[in-house]
Amino acid sequence: MNPVPPPAGCLACGVCCHSMLPTFVRLTGDDWSRLGPAAERVAHFIGHRAYMRMNAGHCAALELRSGPDGAVQFFCTVYATRPQICRDLARGSPECLGELSAKAGRVKSGAGL
Ligand code: SF4
Ligand code: SF4
Repeated sequence: MNPVPPPAGCLACGVCCHSMLPTFVRLTGDDWSRLGPAAERVAHFIGHRAYMRMNAGHCAALELRSGPDGAVQFFCTVYATRPQICRDLARGSPECLGELSAKAGRVKSGAGL
C-alpha cells in the first residue's frame, strides 16, 4: 500500500484526534495539571486512569469549524495545553503516517472509526 502523504497542515486533517476507543488519549498527572480548568470538560477518569473524553468519534477537545474557504478545519481547543502524547506526534512522523494510513479515508468521509 502506498503511504498517505501528510497534508500541508494539521488543521486540514485531524486524523490523529479521531478514534472510537474511550482510552485513545491517555493522560499523565502532568497532562491533567497542564489542562487546568479545561480538564474537567475534556478529560475524565476510567477506573484509576485519566483519558481525554471521546465524543462522536473524536477527542472532546477537537472542534470542527468552517475555514475561510468553507472547508472543515479540525481545531484543538486546548492546543497550548494539549497532552504530551499529542505534542510528541509530529506531522510527517512515522506515527502520523501510520494514523493517516489507518484512518484518513474514514475521517474524510465522516464515517465513524
Ligand atoms: S499529526 Fe498527522 S495525522 Fe495528526 S493532524 Fe497532523 S497530519 Fe493529521
Ligand atoms: S488534545 Fe487536541 S491534539 Fe490531542 S487528541 Fe485532543 S484535539 Fe487532538
